[in-house]
Formats: sequence, structure tokens, C-alpha cells
Amino acid sequence: MAKILCVLYDDPKSGHPKSYARDDIPEIKGYPGGQTAPTPEGLSFNPGELLGSVSGKLGLEKYLADAGHELVVTSDKNGPDSRFVKELADADVVISQPFWPAYLTPERFAMAPKLKLAVTAGIGSDHVDLQSAIDRNVTVCEVTYSNSISVAEHVVMMILALVRNYIPSYKQVIDGGWNIADCVQRAYDVEKMHVGTVAAGRIGWAVLKRMHPFDVHLHYTDRHRLPLEQEKELGLTFHESAEDLVKVCDVVTINCPLHPETENLFNKELISKMKKGAYIVNTARGKICDTQAIADALESGQLAGYAGDVWFPQPAPKDHPWRSMPYHSMTPHTSGSTLSAQARYAAGTREILECWFAGKPIRDEYLIVHDGKLAGAGAHSYSEGDATGGSS
Ligand code: NAD
Repeated sequence: MAKILCVLYDDPKSGHPKSYARDDIPEIKGYPGGQTAPTPEGLSFNPGELLGSVSGKLGLEKYLADAGHELVVTSDKNGPDSRFVKELADADVVISQPFWPAYLTPERFAMAPKLKLAVTAGIGSDHVDLQSAIDRNVTVCEVTYSNSISVAEHVVMMILALVRNYIPSYKQVIDGGWNIADCVQRAYDVEKMHVGTVAAGRIGWAVLKRMHPFDVHLHYTDRHRLPLEQEKELGLTFHESAEDLVKVCDVVTINCPLHPETENLFNKELISKMKKGAYIVNTARGKICDTQAIADALESGQLAGYAGDVWFPQPAPKDHPWRSMPYHSMTPHTSGSTLSAQARYAAGTREILECWFAGKPIRDEYLIVHDGKLAGAGAHSYSEGDATGGSS
């Protein structure tokens, strides 16, 4: 019998939903490039249900109980007296979501001598100190591709919202006003703008593909250059570095993982090299951007807008500068946790647990750390070291 410690975000204020806005969600069997959607042996939930909060339990309760395992689910994750920290001592498996990350710092690894598997129910395992996982031979995996398209859709929405000044215009309506000039004095079309992504992995590529019909110039940088035919398909301009890319782009979207190479990449210096009045959309990770440098650049006019749904730490404190800075369109970390995405990452989490308990290999594309080294998607997209900074 294993103990599975699962950290999920809080339930809706009104409790677990009794009904939903829609009766069903489209069935997704595979992703671009041929990877199949998760293939667990069974499912104990209806796709489209709320699974990501505490009462949803990622749909794992019945499966784990039937298999004789102990499941502990909590949202209480911050500080030394949190339930998460208290339950770590005899946990074999930790499951956490990037939206409500249970930061697994070196100190917390030391409190969890039995820990063998850390599953990210979603994508992005930077909340786990990967160096500690490597050193302690803990397997880290995530449900690769489960919410990449969900995030790409959010990025496109945010690019349009910023450039077209949507949120302030919406606010006019809510506030009972009709001052069109107030709305349009910062509104532009994206047509013919230069739009670039830092990283063209699953999300970055999906963003480029979705922006292509808007008749914009598309740019990217990545540590792995795309095949020529993919570049030609969308008319992409490749740049060797983020610095080269930002110099020519009106809109920059960040879609790389947070790891030591990318931490604080968008600092004061890089932002000063951007075109004046550029926009940044960052749904990757908060710590890729310097918090104060972003707020200052919006104040000075160096940036015309900033949007995204990732912060550091999470949940963001009430006085986080990004809540009150001008010209932002921030959301809490929601882009990868639509009900559609939840169905896929819950199914993927179950697939990973089924493999783990049966002693079968976990799909290579789900692996971040395995056998004491970066593996699978982790070897492709991450570097060793600690990018969480140990904050909880
Ligand atoms: P992916 O592994 O398919 O792509 C990551 C890409 O980043 C790869 O192409 C890799 O080569 C590139 N990369 C890594 N380091 C780089 C560097 N230093 N410079 C340039 N490129 C670099 O992953 P994905 O599915 O596209 O997801 C990317 C990231 O987005 C995740 O790691 C996560 O942090 C974030 N994400 C956020 C949400 C959300 O809800 N907001 C959901 C999913 C993923």
C-alpha cells in the first residue's frame, strides 16, 4: 500500500458544482505530431467535471481506494505547519498542479524519505527542485501536451486583449460609461505586427499556428531549431537568442519552461532592448520575468501592456506588484486548467500511477527526471539546478 499526497486548489466558494454550463466536451484522442492523449485502463469521472479542486480529487479516489492505496488530498500547502508538510514524512508519491504548486524544495525533499515519485498534474515541473530529485533518485513526470493547446488559446486571447485594449473597454460597459475615445486611445490592430515566441515547443508552436491567420510576421527563438519545412509552413523567422528576437517584435510571448537558463530572462536589461511600446504575454512561469522590471516598464511606457496567468509565488500575495501595475490583463493561473484540460491531465495522472504501481515504464514523453538524471521531455526542455528559489 502506498500513500499518495495530492495538493489541489480550493473548491469553488459555493462548493463542488452540481451542474455545468455545458453537457459535454469534445473528445480529443491525439495531439499534433501524433502523440496520443492519455490512455489509462479506466476512468472514474465524467470528462467535463471539475476535477482540479480538492473535492474533485483528480478523479482518483475510487481507483486508489480499490487498489488499496491511501489518498490524502489537501489545499493547505504553505508554511511549515501546513498539512502538506506534515503529511510528507511517510508519503510515497506527491501529486501537485502548477496552478497551486506544492513547492518541493530541498528542505521538503529531506522531510520525505519515502518519496519516490512526484507527478505534475499538468505541465511544468519547476515547482519541484529538479536537482534534489536527481540527487535523491526521485522520478518526476508531467502530463505532457495535456493542456498545451488550452494555454495556446489563452495566449492568443491575451495578445488580442492587450493590443485591442479589450479589458478597459469592457470595464467602460460595466461602469456604465460610453467614452469611446477613452477606450480606443490605446487600441490597435495586430495585422502586420511582428509577433515572436521565446520557445516553439508544444505551446509556442500552437501559438504561432493560431496567430498565422491574423496576417502577422512571425518570429521565434528556441534552443532546438524547428525543421525547415515547419518554418516555411508559417513563414517563421528564427533568431539565435531572445535578445535578437525582442529587438524586432511588437508582441513577445514566452513559452519556455522555468529552469536555471530562463529564470529572470526578462530582466531590466532585456526589456530595455525591446521595441518601445511592445507587449509581453507570459503564460509560461512568473519567475522568467523580473517582477519589478515589468511593473517599471509599464509605468515608463517601455512596455504598452503585459498579460499572463503565471506569478511567483502562487497564490500571489495581495500586494504583488502585478495586481496593481498599469496596462495589465493578468488572470490567476487558469489557462491550463479549463474543464477540458482537467479531463486530460486527470486521465494522464491516472495513466502514470497505473504504470508506476504495475512496474511498467512511464511514457518517455511524460518523464522529466528519472534514474537520477533529466529524461524524456525533461532532457529536451530543462536544465539541472533549482529554479523555484525555495519559496513557498
Ligand atoms: P515543451 O517542452 O513542448 O516546449 C518547451 C520548449 O522550450 C522546447 O522547445 C525547448 O527547447 C524550449 N526551451 C527550453 N529552454 C529554452 C531556452 N533557454 N531558450 C529558448 N527555448 C528554450 O513544453 P510546452 O508544453 O510548450 O510548455 C512550455 C511551458 O509552458 C511549460 O514548461 C510550463 O512552464 C508552461 N505551461 C504553462 C501552463 C499554464 O497553465 N499557464 C500550462 C502548461 C505549460
